[in-house]
Amino acid sequence: MPRLIDSDELSRLVRDLALKANFVLPRDVRDVLSSALELERVELARSALEDLVLNFQMAETEKMPICQDCGLAVVFVDWGQEVLLTGGSLQEAVDLGIRDAYVEGYLRKSVVYDPVYDRRNSFDNTPAVIHLRMVPGDRVEVTVAPKGMGSENMSAIRMLKPADGEEGVLRFIEEVVSSAGPNSCPPVVVGVAVGGNFETAPLWAKRSLLRPMGQRNPDPRYARLEEEALRRINRLGIGAGGYGGLVTALDVRIEALPTHIAGMPVAVNLCCHALRHAKGVI
Ligand code: SF4
Repeated sequence: MPRLIDSDELSRLVRDLALKANFVLPRDVRDVLSSALELERVELARSALEDLVLNFQMAETEKMPICQDCGLAVVFVDWGQEVLLTGGSLQEAVDLGIRDAYVEGYLRKSVVYDPVYDRRNSFDNTPAVIHLRMVPGDRVEVTVAPKGMGSENMSAIRMLKPADGEEGVLRFIEEVVSSAGPNSCPPVVVGVAVGGNFETAPLWAKRSLLRPMGQRNPDPRYARLEEEALRRINRLGIGAGGYGGLVTALDVRIEALPTHIAGMPVAVNLCCHALRHAKGVI
């Protein structure tokens, strides 16, 4: 017998997670931002970091959004194969939760239905972007990750050749962060996926943004690549708010995916300091 979950229960969870993600910056992100402040010596960059720390503290206590851009609602769902959803479709259930959160929480609604012509706002921040995985078991794990467009706009994919190797990957990551400059609202967290194909690399680059801060790839070769990318990015001197200084990126995470013999796609998803996500389980 499958375990039954009513769509209302899922909607309530999504609502709660969307509110939490917009008001409360994850503990590990705050800790790294506070450490960056201790490290930074450039006065203007220090002042920007001080504002960021004050901002996330106030957001939590006053129940105010961490940023005015409350993001496109990206929702990762790991669905246990023994669970059956009743009462509505997955998209309907998730959208209802997002709608409730963005309306009740006075969060900015940033979604337009049509990208090129009328660009009419949906006025409730739906539809959500859902990434669904079927997994073993009878639980449903949901992560709501509102993603601001400032940093999303500066993200990129390039279809590198296998011969470009490690150095090609590092150069591309550095190029993406460098051309973003202050537009990605640094200090950034850099999510990278190497391999896969034209659709899976960006998805895994985004998924890597959910990793805890400082957690390295378990493969020591990729862990070294993450460290080297972080070192090179922080040599760029863009700094917090684009004011210069030592801390342009707070972390780099690289996922390695099986790929075709003829290719080596690299996707770089930049996330601003407002690295928001909240996870719950039913
Ligand atoms: S990129 Fe991030 S910090 Fe910048 S405006 Fe968007 S959500 Fe806010």
